[in-house]
Amino acid sequence: MSKSADAEQEAESMRAVVFQEPQEPMEVEEVDRPEPDPDGIVVETEACGVCRSDWHAWQGDWDWVGVMPTPGLIFGHEPVGIVKDVGEDVENFSEGDRVCVPFNLSDGTCRFCKQGRANICERVIPLGFVSFQPGAFAEEFPVRNADHNVIKLPDGVDPVEVAGLGCRFATAFHGLVHRVDVTAGDWVAVHGCGGVGLSAVHIADALGANVIAVDLSEDKLEKAEELGADATIDVTEVQDVPQAVKGETPKSRGADISVDALGIAETCRNSVNSLAKGGQNLQIGLTTSEEEGEVSLPVDSIVMDEREFIGSFGMPPHEYEEIFSMMEQGKIDPGKIVSKTISLEEVPDTIASMGDFDTVGIPVCNEF
Ligand SMILES: [Zn+2]
Ligand SMILES: [Zn+2]
Repeated sequence: MSKSADAEQEAESMRAVVFQEPQEPMEVEEVDRPEPDPDGIVVETEACGVCRSDWHAWQGDWDWVGVMPTPGLIFGHEPVGIVKDVGEDVENFSEGDRVCVPFNLSDGTCRFCKQGRANICERVIPLGFVSFQPGAFAEEFPVRNADHNVIKLPDGVDPVEVAGLGCRFATAFHGLVHRVDVTAGDWVAVHGCGGVGLSAVHIADALGANVIAVDLSEDKLEKAEELGADATIDVTEVQDVPQAVKGETPKSRGADISVDALGIAETCRNSVNSLAKGGQNLQIGLTTSEEEGEVSLPVDSIVMDEREFIGSFGMPPHEYEEIFSMMEQGKIDPGKIVSKTISLEEVPDTIASMGDFDTVGIPVCNEF
């Protein structure tokens, strides 16, 4: 092959982390560079967070909600990057814009999109979980329907620090600000202090709540304290987690809001049982293959105490302005949750290790 043919081939291909089979190590491979749809863009990736959702999908969890990755899929759903290519019908973006992309892509036309709830679009397409919408553990990735789905970032933000805005930080923000009613002085318990849980601790603190962080890792609880938790509970050191949470609240009444930021049966039940009368359970965590989406709950006490069980999924694009204005005022800082940066080669092992719960905060890939 001539030198120029070599260079041409190089220009047409790029490096990406490619899914093989459930629980088989992913591989860094050369794949075709993406082209934009007429209504889409292609983004050159600067940073992409590694999320526990990647681990779930890699495990083969979630086929009961219709997510089953196929060989060749490129993962990665917490991206920040620079717009490189723009489809002919795109109006709001041009080459060189720095953007982030929320993981739940919408069509912009269904009744939920029209109601401002694009995150639960009737035709929602998750970024980096289906083969026709590859993700961002790659030099470049395409985004469909860009005018509805892509967020322009404020000038001067660090791509690594805002990588969590595509999923975990935004999910915690939307849940606490728009799905439940956190008011200053409320007691908020957060069960599970992974990336989304720590984000919830930080955001609830910024909203003026008193925060109780619950986990089994000392390191994560220490980090939660740094981020504003007023009390921490190590589940390995207490007999009854809900009682321990209640014990931290005035007159042991329980939490006004309790967040299940993990999604296993134990944290879900603990979260509901930590609630005060009239309290709200914010369910952010999705379950594992143990539960397959089913968790038994104390329904009678939910009825008699008028507790609420509220689901929350990502964040619609128009709410990002709220995060940006709180960042500008110095009230919140998504960068505080980011724990380390890694290269594309380290992504497969990092995803595989999410099942061990050893990672504190959000690891971000920034070398492609
Ligand atoms: Zn995620
Ligand atoms: Zn829609």
